[in-house]
Amino acid sequence: MKSHDNRIEKTIVGKAKSLGASLAGIARIEDLKASKSYEIYSKSPFYETYDRESPNYFKFKGVEWRAEHKSVLVWALEHPVSEPALDWWSMKVPGFTPGNRMMRRQSKQLRIWMDEELGIKALSLPYQIEFGGAFLKDSAHLAGLGVIGKNNLLVTPQFGTRVRLRGIFMEAELDPTGPIDFDPCEGCDRPCSFCAIPLMRGGHVSKPVKELVSEAEKLAAEGVKELILIAQDLTYYGLDLYRRRALADLLRELAAVEGIEWIRLHYAYPTGFPLDVLEVMRTEPKVCNYIDIPLQHINTELLKSMRRGTNSEKTRALLKRFREEVPGMAIRTTLIVGYPGETRERFEELKEFVRETRFDRMGCFAYSHEENTHAFQLEDDVPEEEKETAMLGYQSGLLKGI
Ligand code: SF4
Repeated sequence: MKSHDNRIEKTIVGKAKSLGASLAGIARIEDLKASKSYEIYSKSPFYETYDRESPNYFKFKGVEWRAEHKSVLVWALEHPVSEPALDWWSMKVPGFTPGNRMMRRQSKQLRIWMDEELGIKALSLPYQIEFGGAFLKDSAHLAGLGVIGKNNLLVTPQFGTRVRLRGIFMEAELDPTGPIDFDPCEGCDRPCSFCAIPLMRGGHVSKPVKELVSEAEKLAAEGVKELILIAQDLTYYGLDLYRRRALADLLRELAAVEGIEWIRLHYAYPTGFPLDVLEVMRTEPKVCNYIDIPLQHINTELLKSMRRGTNSEKTRALLKRFREEVPGMAIRTTLIVGYPGETRERFEELKEFVRETRFDRMGCFAYSHEENTHAFQLEDDVPEEEKETAMLGYQSGLLKGI
């Protein structure tokens, strides 16, 4: 079956929403097979699982890719902060969590409806990673439900990361409904010593303001209210295209799009941060007083070794400016512990910095010694257990509000 006017796609997406899906969309299997998850999955060993019908273990051969499956319907169920019980696990509940149970029911209803009303055979894509779940995020991205952020989470404009996903393969060649291509720029030109992203993603490329505004208008017409600007390095936006940092201009233009109500920034780089963005934040109500700015460390020697182009003094001055110019601004950061050369003293300096700064959100990662990075030439001299202990100590300390 081939769709010509998108009516079938709209009917299917509409049906999923009428059954309770918060978001729904369609992606092509062919595109899914070109995604990163397929590339990685195809190299993975077969998984072992337990066959409930027999007392024997058997080798599971992964996802069954049938030639007749041409499209995937993927949908999301919002898991709002106010309803944590949707995700409470219980062996006594069929489906184990209420959210999962709802989605299983939706999947069954959708498959029966498709068969009876549209003559389309469909097969559920199991949510366990090894049986199909590995493809849900890429399907959702390809179907236009959201983008995959730097932390490998699906970020949707409407609900952020608070969604659970499900998918079904369909024996129908349908037009894809996505993806939401709202990354203002891609790639990275920075030389951070510990990071292989520039090697994998290539150099920084900004998209023109005009193109992004027209994309935002289309999304707003579809009911999207929130834009989350995700990039490796928003600080650099515009330098390659306009020979100047143009993030503030982009924000003003996006804020003028009717229907868009919130704009949030994810991943700015501290060095060269365009300070005119602070004025836009302060004066433009649609731009959230929020910044996600990975700082990685505070010790000047380590920042130098990390090739971050900044130091302790400049970092502190930047944060001070954020808070002075945008009162109440929420700051999120990420830090690395266990980087080569991080002595006890330097670690204590980092802890003290966190205590003083009182970030609103923070992620902490143990340094990973990656081949093909500049830092790989350094001696990975912090024992793994210490990295883990430091990281866990941080996380638990954060929960206690250090
Ligand atoms: S850490 Fe971020 S800014 Fe640095 S090279 Fe990697 S992606 Fe670019």
